[in-house]
Amino acid sequence: MDPTPFLNSFRELNDSFLKLIDSLSALRGLSALRVYGQSDTQLLDSALDVLMQNQDLERCSVYLLKDGKLVNTAGMDWAGMIGLQQNRDRNHAPLFASFDVGEGLVGLAAHTGVLQHSRNCEQDARFERNCRGISPQSMAIGSLISLPIKASGETLGVLNVSHPHTDFFTDAQERSLVIFANFLGQMLVNNRLLNSMEHLVRERTHQLEQTLADAEALKRRYAELSVIDELTGLHNRRFFFPESRSALARSLRYKKGFCLLLLDIDHFKRINDVHGHRQGDEVLSGCAELFRQQVREVDVLARFGGEEFIIALPDTDLDGAKQLAERVRAAVKGKTFQIDGRSIKVTVSIGIACLLDHDQGDAQVVLDRLISEADQALYFGKHSGRDKACAYSEIACFL
Ligand code: GH3
Ligand code: MG
Ligand code: MG
Repeated sequence: MDPTPFLNSFRELNDSFLKLIDSLSALRGLSALRVYGQSDTQLLDSALDVLMQNQDLERCSVYLLKDGKLVNTAGMDWAGMIGLQQNRDRNHAPLFASFDVGEGLVGLAAHTGVLQHSRNCEQDARFERNCRGISPQSMAIGSLISLPIKASGETLGVLNVSHPHTDFFTDAQERSLVIFANFLGQMLVNNRLLNSMEHLVRERTHQLEQTLADAEALKRRYAELSVIDELTGLHNRRFFFPESRSALARSLRYKKGFCLLLLDIDHFKRINDVHGHRQGDEVLSGCAELFRQQVREVDVLARFGGEEFIIALPDTDLDGAKQLAERVRAAVKGKTFQIDGRSIKVTVSIGIACLLDHDQGDAQVVLDRLISEADQALYFGKHSGRDKACAYSEIACFL
């Protein structure tokens, strides 16, 4: 019996089997590609590398649909695909940078959504339209397959594979290319989805960070505002107590001086009654400004309430406190407030209390005592004619 037909069949079967393995390898290679943060071109270039390695192909290209045109996005340029590069004629590349949908084999694949296979390009009228006037006879191309890259029924572009020989591609290769192109289409869609999601996530994260920063700034602003007196711009009691308590605690610990001044505008009610409440407000603000000008940075000045103000003086003894009180009293007395064309003058009474050498213990308790003493000294001054600064230690014997 002649074994030749049997051997031929066996060879064909073996050949098909090897091609099947090649096409499966190509698919496996495709599925192993990194699909994250890549551009269409990067992804397609990697995919074409896989195709060329596993299917023994040399010339592949992808034209993607962009704004209604098929644009050369990855792989070889068309001049290479049709063998013009072999003639070292690379100037044709821009000529083939894009095709219209329906134009030639490439365009037909996109237009019909069906694989176009030219087994002999030289003789193929469809192919001629992709040559842009250059004679197919001058090219080193025999076979060309253009097939649509689709995802969910939508055509995204065209995959082209060519070979210098005619009748090069088998039916099995055709079929495996269809599977490859479908796989590729899905990868493209996934990649784009990932990229847009990543972009969205980045955008949202940025918005969130911005919102958080705004919220933080707002929080800081509110925190600042909550310790600032609106009328005078000085700190309020909420700020004064913790600040002066810490300063006092330091003075107690390091045995340093610490004094407190309590200031109250004299007969302020009259200012309101005679000139009006708004004018009264302006006098209050003006006084606050005078106080601010007199104190040091380490002093804690605050509006204590109404027309009363308070100043904590760290590292200051009675003499220092009296000097400051006198300066403040004189500054207020010497000031003439010009409000609505009227000249308004006020005076201020001041009570002074100082830390004693033997003072120790809880800063809050000592602070409360100093405030009470300063208050008593202040009212002593009020009752002895106002426009005075009185120290508690000097008037205590009269109380
Ligand atoms: P004394 O010399 O005894 O301190 O007399 P006084 O009039 O200053 O004291 P009194 O406590 O009788 O009145 C304080 C006045 O201060 C009454 C109140 O309406 C006024 N006052 C308190 N806070 C403000 C304010 O924010 N703006 C204005 N315009 N007046 C205020
Ligand atoms: Mg008062
Ligand atoms: Mg007063």
